[in-house]
Amino acid sequence: MRSVIPPPRSTTPYQNYMKGVQFDCVDCGHHTQLMGEYYTLVKSVWWEAVDKRPDMHTVMLCIGCLEERLGRRLTPGDFDPTLWVNRRPEEHSLRLKDRLRRAK
Ligand SMILES: [Zn+2]
Repeated sequence: MRSVIPPPRSTTPYQNYMKGVQFDCVDCGHHTQLMGEYYTLVKSVWWEAVDKRPDMHTVMLCIGCLEERLGRRLTPGDFDPTLWVNRRPEEHSLRLKDRLRRAK
């Protein structure tokens, strides 16, 4: 017996955008979005992490691998405050929330 193929679900522009994105961390292979580690850093910090390689500009790194590359912990100032991905705490992992938390 053949299984019934479900009708395509309607997708929002956001979901369509997300489908085209390669989320795997280039160092450990974990899916950064499923881990809750989809974020954007200020350009200078990102460039430092990827050794200024243009072909690495659009790749993903999870927080652990990124900090390994930088040799230090991320701080709130490392994240680009203008970008919406950094302002979705409901989608952030505990360690991303921790790094984004501003010192009071
Ligand atoms: Zn990783």
